[in-house]
Amino acid sequence: MAAEYADGEWLKHLFTIGKRIDYDKLVRFLSRKYNGETMLCKNGRSALTLALKAYFEPGDEILVNGFTCYAVYEAVKAAGLKPVFVDIDKSNLNFSIESLTNAMAGQFEVIRDNGSEIASEPRNDGRERSGPKTDRSSVRGIIIQNTLGNPVDIKAIEKFANEHDLMIIEDLAHSAGVKYKDGREAGTVGVATALSFGKDKSIDAVSGGAVIFRKEKLHEIKAPFKLPKLSDSLRARFYPMFGALCRNLTYIGIGGAVMRMMVKIHFVEKSADSKLDIERLPSKPEAVRALNKLKELRRSGEPPMRDFCFVHDRAELLKKLQRKGYYFGGLWYEKPVSPERYYNKVHFPEKECPNALYVSEHIINLPIYYTKRDLGPALTIIEPYLEKGEGQNE
Ligand SMILES: *Cc1c(COP(=O)(O)O)cnc(C)c1O
Repeated sequence: MAAEYADGEWLKHLFTIGKRIDYDKLVRFLSRKYNGETMLCKNGRSALTLALKAYFEPGDEILVNGFTCYAVYEAVKAAGLKPVFVDIDKSNLNFSIESLTNAMAGQFEVIRDNGSEIASEPRNDGRERSGPKTDRSSVRGIIIQNTLGNPVDIKAIEKFANEHDLMIIEDLAHSAGVKYKDGREAGTVGVATALSFGKDKSIDAVSGGAVIFRKEKLHEIKAPFKLPKLSDSLRARFYPMFGALCRNLTYIGIGGAVMRMMVKIHFVEKSADSKLDIERLPSKPEAVRALNKLKELRRSGEPPMRDFCFVHDRAELLKKLQRKGYYFGGLWYEKPVSPERYYNKVHFPEKECPNALYVSEHIINLPIYYTKRDLGPALTIIEPYLEKGEGQNE
């Protein structure tokens, strides 16, 4: 419910009058920060699509974090590429060198014998398989996600990418401002960097995105040039106000219902339903807000994202929390590729990605701008449900 626009931020956003020059200012800032050529986009998935189109050929395969947003899958598809989902490490929700190596070694195809599956055990267990290996010779790239702001082991991944001749694309939807362990900033390593300015992303301007091409493009890309649709601009302008209204209505118990109605009549759009469109720009007030948030990021140095932990009986816990007025709705992510309503379209290799499956069933998380005081009793309710001994932050 747009909690990031509390303290009157929603009012400021409502009356922001953007100008053409605000696009230029944002472009200049990003080009300098990430050292490349910038294009502004309607959203993160369109930015990622342009990044992929610039460096890959249709039919190429690309390694994707096995715990992600449907937007990433959509972008890979829109660029004509094939995603290869790679299992994650539970401690940081990112693929590891081990899981990447497994993925590159080739998946064993499931042989169907009278309709029953024979070969689908996990790999690297030393056992023989009955299916032929899938050919991994067309893997050309890797998308780094830094899930929920947790950085990948960049040194190791760069080495891996070099060995396999892969181009790195950095998706900063979760990790603008994040520093890798070797001191470099996320977004300054790969051939291209894609940003999302969507709701609850690390730079939240309601919607919008940007791509920065850091190496010479292999294919010409037409920069987005159309202004956003009026309906999208209006929605972006009013969402923070509707959010503030609904947050206040939660005190009389109808905030959730009113927000659901807003979504139903399309006054508010769920971020996952945002349309991919590589020809359109973000709205001008969104460009203003994105630039301000990026400058704040540089000042505070702290990457705003989400804290997570793993719990058992999550459905029961969420119900308990809700009865006390805590809505952990919109968990990142309740399926390995989320949201759930799109999951079936993906044909996700669950057997190849057991950790991603576990995490999607046990994770809860919230934006870190909620303080211990805000959460208070919620933490007491969560405590008995914690899965012990699993990698998680404090
Ligand atoms: C949300 C998201 C995107 C795309 O963002 P949109 O602006 O919603 O298109 C890309 N990558 C990841 C990992 C995301 O979570």
